Amino acid sequence: MQSALIGLNVPLQRRFLSGILPSATRCYSTDTKKYECTSAEHKKELDECYQRLDLSFENTKEAFKSKSNTELIRALVVLRLCGVQTLVNQNQMILATMRRVLGKNLFKKTLKNTFYGHFVAGETEEEVRSVAGKLRKYGVKSILDYSVEADISGQEATDKTVKGTSQATVKPAAMTPVVDAKTLETTRERYTVHQEFGDRRQGVASARTYFYEGEEQCDKNRDIFKQSIDAVASATGNEGFVAVKVTALGRPQLLLKLSEAIVQTQNFFQALTGGMTLQEGRLSVKDLTKRLHDLGVKTDTESVKKFFHDVDFDSDGVVDLHGWNQLLEDHVKLGQLFQVLNIKTGALEPLIQNLSEVEEQEFRNMVRRTLDVAEYAISKGVRIMVDAEQTYLQPAISKITIEMMKKYNKNRGNVFNTYQAYLKCTLQCMEADMQVARREGWHFGAKLVRGAYMEQERSRAKAIGYEDPVNVDFQATTKMYESCLTRIADEVDRRGRTNVSVMVASHNEDTVRFAVNLMKERCIAPSERVMCMAQLYGMCDQVSFSLGQAGFSVYKYLPYGPVEEVLPYLSRRALENGSVLKKANKERDLLWKELKRRISSGEFKVRT
Ligand SMILES: Cc1cc2nc3c(=O)[nH]c(=O)nc-3n(C[C@H](O)[C@H](O)[C@H](O)COP(=O)(O)OP(=O)(O)OC[C@H]3O[C@@H](n4cnc5c(N)ncnc54)[C@H](O)[C@@H]3O)c2cc1C
Repeated sequence: MQSALIGLNVPLQRRFLSGILPSATRCYSTDTKKYECTSAEHKKELDECYQRLDLSFENTKEAFKSKSNTELIRALVVLRLCGVQTLVNQNQMILATMRRVLGKNLFKKTLKNTFYGHFVAGETEEEVRSVAGKLRKYGVKSILDYSVEADISGQEATDKTVKGTSQATVKPAAMTPVVDAKTLETTRERYTVHQEFGDRRQGVASARTYFYEGEEQCDKNRDIFKQSIDAVASATGNEGFVAVKVTALGRPQLLLKLSEAIVQTQNFFQALTGGMTLQEGRLSVKDLTKRLHDLGVKTDTESVKKFFHDVDFDSDGVVDLHGWNQLLEDHVKLGQLFQVLNIKTGALEPLIQNLSEVEEQEFRNMVRRTLDVAEYAISKGVRIMVDAEQTYLQPAISKITIEMMKKYNKNRGNVFNTYQAYLKCTLQCMEADMQVARREGWHFGAKLVRGAYMEQERSRAKAIGYEDPVNVDFQATTKMYESCLTRIADEVDRRGRTNVSVMVASHNEDTVRFAVNLMKERCIAPSERVMCMAQLYGMCDQVSFSLGQAGFSVYKYLPYGPVEEVLPYLSRRALENGSVLKKANKERDLLWKELKRRISSGEFKVRT
């Protein structure tokens, strides 16, 4: 054991041996490369931050310094109640009864002083600004998330989803000699609306869900994102983020169609390359010609030449799976964008067919709204993080986000994509995106999360008959998380500090320790804006505030919105906290410890 520590500095050895870091140990080994700091100031800054941080996250005096006595007691009560399963399960009924008995005003007041006050930053921009300002005093920055959710029944949600079904079809017939029929069919099923999973909120704890209510509502959602940007800009200056969900800005069904087209195309190329993985699957135009020739396709026709031109969009002689880069162009129709080569006839055919003019327009609207939000954010110096959603929507969401990164991340990381470590394919997808970023020279920004849709993903895969996309167990997810983070750190070494950044969005203390130790190992100072952490408001304050006060870059995800309209979101947050708290009651124990400390030291009396 001792020999494995040679080369580590003393504080690192101490922390390593203290047993604090069970999972972080993977970070270090005898063959660990030595990493240089970019400057002596950065080294000094990092050393000081690291020394100040109590990696056990148990220094309650520091962790809860920002909390008044009332807030401390409120946190204790709220987290205690979130741990009572019957209350959590019946929370909607309880809230409805309270509202009836107390009347609107008293109900609102009660919630603002309890659950809402603990988990939500406020109703108005002014209230949010005051919370963000207070967090900032303790070194914690803000990400704003307008958390209003339609309070609709499961049946209504399903109806909205099914009603939004498009007549368009993805026609992979052209690919049939290359891709086997089973793969084509399973892919189609996976990216099709299934009534039994129409309510996308099922089995999802904390994430907010939008259902399509027409173009006008999407315009309103866009305006709300813009208002959030204003609030972030005024509350946090140029260091804030705003969270954006693409499903709020257009018809989710179109994202499903686009996702299917992307995945069918990937299947096609993977089959052509003999089943290589995405990032390995770089096929030269010469190889492609040979492969098509072997399949009996005449390769000197106009359509094949056009196909080559389309798939080698940067003219480097290599077929690129990230082609079709005109997605954001206003004049390009979705139905014309994905052209595939019919192996039998040698003709080019659109992959997405029967898309009506209205749907084409809706797709353009969705893209326009997303770009509008991004450009508005950039004009205000605010960065945007595009949330990751269900796997059947994610190829399209990710593709749109990557195209936005290409467009807006030329000089700095204005747009961040989200990667969900609970998925088996995450490292591979992220790797492919990083490769394009490196090749094209734009800033790669990633938010790394475990993922919020696990239960739903698993039951959908089982019911519809495709492979479970989620890692086999929690350990595998953690391993994936750490691999992705390490891979991003490698990319930072390769491309330099200004070209890659990552947000470690996690409440898991081992994961946060892993990230902090990775920063230490790679000598990444917090002020270099390469690596930051994030937790939800009202959760794991011992982590966020310890990091913030030590000088690390840390954010709180701040939900906000009118009390009554935030309730559906709040109900599901209570559910999430219930499951988290069952595992570990650490936060509550720490709050108790701090309360007792304040009482015994006399501090309780002098604090408000
Ligand atoms: C700032 C922020 C932004 C976020 N944005 C997004 C987003 O855009 N998209 C999104 O999907 N989520 C998002 N999330 C939610 C996130 O994905 C997690 O649901 C949440 O943070 C809990 O994960 P954790 O890392 O905090 O870890 P923990 O609390 O330690 O673990 C959470 C859960 O992971 C479960 N788990 C994960 N993988 C497995 C597996 N393979 N088998 C069994 N159990 C497993 C565990 O059971 C546990 O309950 C965000 C979270 C934060 C804090």
